[in-house]
Amino acid sequence: MNAEIIAVGSELLLGQITNTNAQFLSQHLAEIGINVYYHTVVGDNSSRLLDAVKQAEERADLLIFTGGLGPTKDDLTKEAIAAHIGRPLVYNDEALRSIENYFKRTKRPMTPNNKKQALVMEGSLVLANDHGMAPGMMIKGEKHFYMLLPGPPREMQPMFIEYGKPALLNVLEKVEKIESRVLRFFGIGESALETEVEDLLLAQQNPTIAPLAGDGEVTLRITAKHESESAALQMIQEAEEEILSRVGEYFYGYNDTTIARELAERLKETSYTVAAAESLTGGLFQSEITAIPGASSFFKGGIVCYSNEAKEALVQVKKETLTRHGAISAECAIELAENARQLLKADFGISFTGVAGPGEAEGQPPGTVWIGLSSKYDQTKAFKLELAGSREGIRKRSVKYGCHYLLA
Ligand code: ATP
Ligand code: MG
Repeated sequence: MNAEIIAVGSELLLGQITNTNAQFLSQHLAEIGINVYYHTVVGDNSSRLLDAVKQAEERADLLIFTGGLGPTKDDLTKEAIAAHIGRPLVYNDEALRSIENYFKRTKRPMTPNNKKQALVMEGSLVLANDHGMAPGMMIKGEKHFYMLLPGPPREMQPMFIEYGKPALLNVLEKVEKIESRVLRFFGIGESALETEVEDLLLAQQNPTIAPLAGDGEVTLRITAKHESESAALQMIQEAEEEILSRVGEYFYGYNDTTIARELAERLKETSYTVAAAESLTGGLFQSEITAIPGASSFFKGGIVCYSNEAKEALVQVKKETLTRHGAISAECAIELAENARQLLKADFGISFTGVAGPGEAEGQPPGTVWIGLSSKYDQTKAFKLELAGSREGIRKRSVKYGCHYLLA
């Protein structure tokens, strides 16, 4: 929680008094862990006060005002804040009694305008003034807390210590910390993943687990609420461990990472290099990979070989492979991946060939994709995908699968 202290009073601006209230409050707020980022001083003027309030609301959770709670015309803090947050001013019995007591104690006659000081914002917590008349108050608006304190330090200080600070501590305790973490999965469908964790989804209350699918990926957002941040994080950790013990093989990263970024990280760590030959994806894989800073350390380069001529001329795919098996085949994917790797002296070669649609090609339906994966350390493999969706979606998802196979 962070606070802004707004001292109201033209005498502060005229240099007649020093803003010791801000100093006092800052010290005490620091003690209870509330950060004060701004001190504001504004004169006894409704519209400038309102400007200050609006600005403070942009940057603070708690606005603490001092000054302008008195009975005279220039005391307008309470009225301005009440109007701003849309709360009527109502007479408060406790406040009225405290004012009457004050007059009895000081043996002075009470005038009608003194009664005005017993007006408080409806629904506010009244902070009694044991050393003067005007009570303070604290109220929660839509998004902010507002605390109004009197100007005179001899009233404000004991009021804050006796009533203000405990009220803030109470709020701090109740403010629940909300923490969340997104787990990202690839290579498993939404319903398959949900089936694996169904009991967790059904049993959930805190933390909650929300699945979301899109672009061929599934994510689970774990959200935990607790008064203590570390307890909330611990709850997330436990839920994560349970989820990963079931579907960990499909997990690739946290929050807003991408599979290409995770691949890049892995390649940087291991110092392996990659080369690509792309037909179906027309360079999309290379574009995705080179968008990552530092790609030069692991990406050797690649070839876009859309036509059969290009596959032969640029990647040395054998004519016989193309005539016997076609370009959309395991054989072609394997040669593309192997040759790309060897031509560019990389540790891994990846290839993409297939039908993006909308029409069919070589008698195969849209979404038929072959991805070749060649490695210096292992036998070359080819993976067949049967994807559904638009041309764009098929190309994009193929790139993700390519990253996924390289990561595995
Ligand atoms: P009152 O009921 O006395 O009018 P108030 O809440 O309306 O109290 P102000 O009228 O704004 O407060 O200020 C009253 C006096 O309190 C000022 O003349 C000044 O002596 C003192 N005071 C006000 N604000 C501050 C401040 N920020 N720092 C130190 N003293 C202050
Ligand atoms: Mg005053």
